[in-house]
Amino acid sequence: MNKSLLSFALLLAAGGGVIAYLGYENTLLKENKLALENEVAQTESDLSATSEKLGEDIKKLNSEISGLNGEIKDLSYLLDSAKDDLATTTAERDAYREKYRHEKRRMDDFSEQIGDIQGTVGTLKKLSETDPELLKKYSKVYFLNENYFPASFSKIDSRYTVNPKNDYLINSEVWPFLEDMLAQAADDKIELKIASAYRSFNAQNDLKSNYKMMYGSGANRFSADQGYSEHQLGTTVDFAVSENGFGFFGFDKTPAYQWLLDNAYEYGFIQSYPANNQYYQFEPWHWRFVGRNLAAKLHEDGRNFYDLDQWEIDKYLISFFD
Ligand SMILES: [Zn+2]
Repeated sequence: MNKSLLSFALLLAAGGGVIAYLGYENTLLKENKLALENEVAQTESDLSATSEKLGEDIKKLNSEISGLNGEIKDLSYLLDSAKDDLATTTAERDAYREKYRHEKRRMDDFSEQIGDIQGTVGTLKKLSETDPELLKKYSKVYFLNENYFPASFSKIDSRYTVNPKNDYLINSEVWPFLEDMLAQAADDKIELKIASAYRSFNAQNDLKSNYKMMYGSGANRFSADQGYSEHQLGTTVDFAVSENGFGFFGFDKTPAYQWLLDNAYEYGFIQSYPANNQYYQFEPWHWRFVGRNLAAKLHEDGRNFYDLDQWEIDKYLISFFD
């Protein structure tokens, strides 16, 4: 063979090889392309399925959102109406509070008025229950009615009386004051006995007759027209001590008299007819209960019961038993 032919044959063979190779390559490429196309198609199909599902989900979510929006609207409405209710309630509450305060003020005013009225009624009741005779000034021309009797009596403890066999009576409300006084005198080692206390109108008359029989017209020195009313009141006592045989004379010289001058006012007792009085003879043994307030006032001012005007004395009736 010649050289050129060989070269040609070789060239041809090489060319054929290249062609064959290229053909092979082409087939490979075609296969790859198909595979890719398939893959793309698959992916597209997947994507489409996914987006369809997403679309459905979104639709579902939208629907839920719209449902929720509805609920929010409902809740807002409820909230608004609750707010309205609250505002109404608050306003009502404030109105009620104001009304309550107003009513309470009215009630307070009212109870205050009631209190005032009760106070007045109490004062009037106390006054009406306190016998005005208990603070009356008596004289030869003005004395107690013969039918007058104290509201109640108590028996004076016999250890304080001149004659334990006799009953000595005193106004029951005055007795605690007298008892305290007698007990204090005993504590102070002062002998102080009751020689006379309540005397009825008739007893007084009998006493006077006896004195008259004994002393004639001089009887008035012992048994006063003035003094007897005070004994008939049941608030007045005559004191005596053994020192002068329980007599009247000389009583003003006894420690008992000095003790009474110093202390009796604290128990509401005063001397009706003290030394140098303008109304009647000196009766140091004769003491009348006029209440602690008036007795203290007289003691403080150094005045006598019978020196005061009746209207001045009457102011103490309200506190007679205080
Ligand atoms: Zn007397």
